[in-house]
Amino acid sequence: MSPEVNLETIVSLCKRRGFVFQSSEIYGGLAGFYDYGPLGVELVNNIKQEWWKAMVREHDNIFGVDSAIIQNPRLWEASGHIAGFTDPLVEDEVTHKRYRADHLAGVDSNDVEQLMKLLEGKKSPDGNPLGPVRTFNMMMKTYVGPVEDSESVAYLRPETAGPIFTNYENVRETMRAKLPFGVAQIGKAFRNEISPRDFIFRVRELEQMEMQYFINPNDQEKNYQNWRDFAWQFCIERLGISKENLEWHEHDASERAHYAAAAHDIYFKFPQGFKELWGTHNRTDFDLSNHQRVSGKELTYFDEEKRERFMPFVIESSVGVGRLLMAVIVNSYYEEEINGEKRVVLKIKPSLAPYRLAVSPLLKNKPELVNKAREVYGTLKKVFGNVMWDDNGNIGKRYRRQDEIGTPYCITVDFDTLEDETVTIRDRDSTEQTRIKIDELETRLKALLLI
Ligand code: ATP
Repeated sequence: MSPEVNLETIVSLCKRRGFVFQSSEIYGGLAGFYDYGPLGVELVNNIKQEWWKAMVREHDNIFGVDSAIIQNPRLWEASGHIAGFTDPLVEDEVTHKRYRADHLAGVDSNDVEQLMKLLEGKKSPDGNPLGPVRTFNMMMKTYVGPVEDSESVAYLRPETAGPIFTNYENVRETMRAKLPFGVAQIGKAFRNEISPRDFIFRVRELEQMEMQYFINPNDQEKNYQNWRDFAWQFCIERLGISKENLEWHEHDASERAHYAAAAHDIYFKFPQGFKELWGTHNRTDFDLSNHQRVSGKELTYFDEEKRERFMPFVIESSVGVGRLLMAVIVNSYYEEEINGEKRVVLKIKPSLAPYRLAVSPLLKNKPELVNKAREVYGTLKKVFGNVMWDDNGNIGKRYRRQDEIGTPYCITVDFDTLEDETVTIRDRDSTEQTRIKIDELETRLKALLLI
């Protein structure tokens, strides 16, 4: 990552190149909601696929689900969200703008008394007195059915984990799973954040990738460590994030969620500082015990070998897709000077790049070049899928544009191609160009892209 990268630069690149748009932008947008554009959706899908592969496909004992966003509200009563999914809020007494009290106090804490003390005599960012610290529930409400009354209130899920717990027994039975096993899900979650900000870092509609690993309580430590290692390795090996941009942060008792016995977050060096990216939590038997209590359904596990019955403990791995996308873009953003010219380049891992390849004719007004380039493009698209046709502007401008969206290799058809059936491959990171025979292209590109 370039040292000079700031948030505005990232926001502007994301807009300019079609990664992220403000939602309902032509109406002035809506705070905390964003849409992914053509490039963003490719990057997001690649990140999700990579996670699904590493988490579900590469583990014999992890199974996927895709649950409804709206569930029976008793689920959220049992999980503690209706009573306790709150953030501390403080209001500017003049403007009535609301702020996260913990952010104004500069601490990671939900403790109202502690925050009141820390904020004593402090002013709001507009210089006005602050009211008392209160708690604010972040659940988004809706009504199910034709009547809007207290009986029909339902909630958009605030996390994907909840319906994993209510499906624990279904998955165990249908998959004949024995402990330890995990259930994973990727999907939207909704949080009425008091102050959404920092672009897609803190939003009100987010997407999460979560996995709950059900274990014997005696195996807590080992499994907790394994899932911490998984998250760290995934960031480095699968997403190509540099170690220097990551650090561990252990929650102390005041920061930990109501359910957690231990919590370690991976923080990423976002332009606004090191902030939470990925959490690993030991949720103990909090969830299954509460669901058993509230639903009245037996959720204990019988270990046939050891002939013992117990309530499984859960280690959770939880990460936001948007934060990962932002981390990948920030991590791979470079401004460089090449032959006296400035270029912006996203050095994204080829497996994640929105387009793996771009194909161009040297000149777009020479039909013989265009036809040949179209032929090469058609062949490569069949093999590599996400290949872009690019004949806009001159070749230098095309390379700059492809650099900026992270396309690892550009293939150019020129006059020599018509003579000797060779094309140039230009490498995004080194900017070096090599000539290669068209019939060797597929093998060479597969090797370069590690496919
Ligand atoms: P924070 O302390 O930043 O509010 P959290 O500790 O409440 O986050 P979790 O409930 O553990 O977060 O959610 C798991 C993951 O989901 C986080 O690590 C983060 O990547 C993502 N996430 C949580 N809240 C948001 C949000 N409002 N916008 C974007 N991503 C989020």
